Amino acid sequence: TEEALRQAQKMEAVGQLTGGLAHDFNNLLAGISGSLELMEMRLAQGRHADVARYMTAAQGAAKRAAALTHRLLAFSRRQTLDPKPTNVNRLVAGMAELIRRTVGPSVELEVKSEDGLWPALVDASQLENALLNLCINARDAMPNGGRITIATANTGSDRDGGRMKDLPDGHYLSLCVTDTGTGMPPEIIEKVFEPFFTTKPIGMGTGLGLSMIYGFAKQSGGQVRIHSVVGEGTTVCIYLPQHHAEDSEDQPPEIRLLSRAE
Ligand code: ADP
Repeated sequence: TEEALRQAQKMEAVGQLTGGLAHDFNNLLAGISGSLELMEMRLAQGRHADVARYMTAAQGAAKRAAALTHRLLAFSRRQTLDPKPTNVNRLVAGMAELIRRTVGPSVELEVKSEDGLWPALVDASQLENALLNLCINARDAMPNGGRITIATANTGSDRDGGRMKDLPDGHYLSLCVTDTGTGMPPEIIEKVFEPFFTTKPIGMGTGLGLSMIYGFAKQSGGQVRIHSVVGEGTTVCIYLPQHHAEDSEDQPPEIRLLSRAE
């Protein structure tokens, strides 16, 4: 969970980084086109020594611009997944204190864990990051405080009102984060999974949280669903495939997971 906190702080830093990067990048481009313009003028005047000078300046700026994009690419490179049977109720319980500290005293945190939840086959540390990110989004949607509810449930691809139609049949669990915040109109919901889409001020949001969560859920064989009502609040659910009983000993899920983890 300390790792999840570091990740959240990293995301905040990336927000500042990307805002700053775009600015620096524009400055470098302006420098390059300025140098090219001057080169054209001096060339016409036959002042070749000046041309060489502006050329060096333009090359330097182009190199720095390339270094900037490399930094961005290095960051956006996918983290590798290490899926293992994961007790999501225990994961949520383990994160509760960190989440409480992160969202602050004006937000009430409620956890509803379904009994007998089957383990998810998922990368636990990525799921921790996803959960913390959802709670930070929920907090940001409630500037005057409110309530965050984290709920887990066994579900299935064909249940849940047909919302899971695009997933193969099988056993899934849902991890949902509900807030009593501003909510989102449909035209925003449409865009939230796009990388770098954010409505937060520069330096405050990266626009990467939900797109990374979406990528993580898809790569895990799951899905993300958003239900939101403007003025009432938002629920974001991550659906994840479960590690199921057929292939293992006849024990309740929580107990079997314990013996596996050890
Ligand atoms: P970021 O939080 O850095 O902006 P995200 O990808 O996590 O990036 O979210 C993108 C946008 O989706 C946010 O800027 C916000 O407009 C909207 N959003 C996400 N979660 C919520 C929520 N719980 N309530 C209202 N709006 C939200």
